[in-house]
Amino acid sequence: MITRVVSITDLKKQQDEMREAARLIRLGEVVAFPTETVYGLGADALDAGAVRKIFRAKGRPADNPLIIHIHDTGQWQKLVEEIPDSAYLLAEKFWPGPLTMILNKSGEVPAEVTAGLNTVAVRVPAHPVALSLISLSGVPIAAPSANRSGRPSPTAAQHVLKDMAGRIPLILDGGRTDVGVESTVLDLTKSPPVILRPGGVTVEMLESVIGQVAIHPSVMQPVQKDEAAHSPGMKYVHYAPKAPVVLIRGSLPKQMEYIRTRVSSELEAGKQVGILATDQTIACYDEGIRLSMGDRDKPADLAGNLFARLREFDDLNVDIILAEGVDEKEEGLAVMNRMARAAGFCIIDL
Ligand code: AMP
Ligand code: MG
Repeated sequence: MITRVVSITDLKKQQDEMREAARLIRLGEVVAFPTETVYGLGADALDAGAVRKIFRAKGRPADNPLIIHIHDTGQWQKLVEEIPDSAYLLAEKFWPGPLTMILNKSGEVPAEVTAGLNTVAVRVPAHPVALSLISLSGVPIAAPSANRSGRPSPTAAQHVLKDMAGRIPLILDGGRTDVGVESTVLDLTKSPPVILRPGGVTVEMLESVIGQVAIHPSVMQPVQKDEAAHSPGMKYVHYAPKAPVVLIRGSLPKQMEYIRTRVSSELEAGKQVGILATDQTIACYDEGIRLSMGDRDKPADLAGNLFARLREFDDLNVDIILAEGVDEKEEGLAVMNRMARAAGFCIIDL
């Protein structure tokens, strides 16, 4: 299969291209498209055969459910049993935006989408190309991140092409994504609601609207056996570049001292070492291949750059990546969650 990449720079002038993408969705094909978080791999959420194609293209385990993307809350009722007041409040405040809500599913949603769970994950993305694709196709679109399973999520169309060339017919290129990490996943079937995955809508933002929310232990720890059913996606290797990642946590001076020493010993052993640093620290290392995630006092910027930097290390052919930890506040929690998983929980606490 040939994979076409179509750049969408002006939605009004490119209605023909968008209609063609929507036609593919209606035909049960898979189309990659930009959202404000990361690129998604979309198919008609109500067509079980189309949804199976997503799992095949990604190599995604069948027991890891997908998020359904809708155009507005009008499409919501059909997919879920009942919408609590708190969900409406959150929708009003954060949709369109990087918040996924989990509610009990309706009979309309195929078991393939929810991996057999009786709950379904739904969100309204805040990207004009995504919204146009959903409304032109006239169906809700199930879409996981558009990477091969286990790899860092794509924040640019070129990342999608690298992972999906020959596997899907079309990639809509809407430029670099804005948030850079996947949506916050909030389980509203629990009281208090539970964050299963941190993202661009932060704990602080959620609590300002609905009061206390819980954070699932799997956010910063490996999933325990009996927790697997709550957050299926958390039990798999995720976001991993080719080289192993070691995440360093603790005070910044201690982190830097550890990294300097470790870089020397890895170099002595003949390894190419990558350092995932920040603007504040990058100039303080004088060995290794250094990339910055951005200003550590601006966690939203760190989130925006993280996956692109991990993919850059692939191209630089490093043997190991030493990653500085950042504060787990605001978007920093999502950054640390992705880095801990990219590291397979190989974490040095200082
Ligand atoms: P991705 O599509 O790569 O953004 O991954 C979707 C995430 O949402 C995964 O971590 C899934 O486990 C999670 N998810 C989707 N549906 C549900 C659900 N019904 N219950 C719990 N987690 C879900
Ligand atoms: Mg993913």
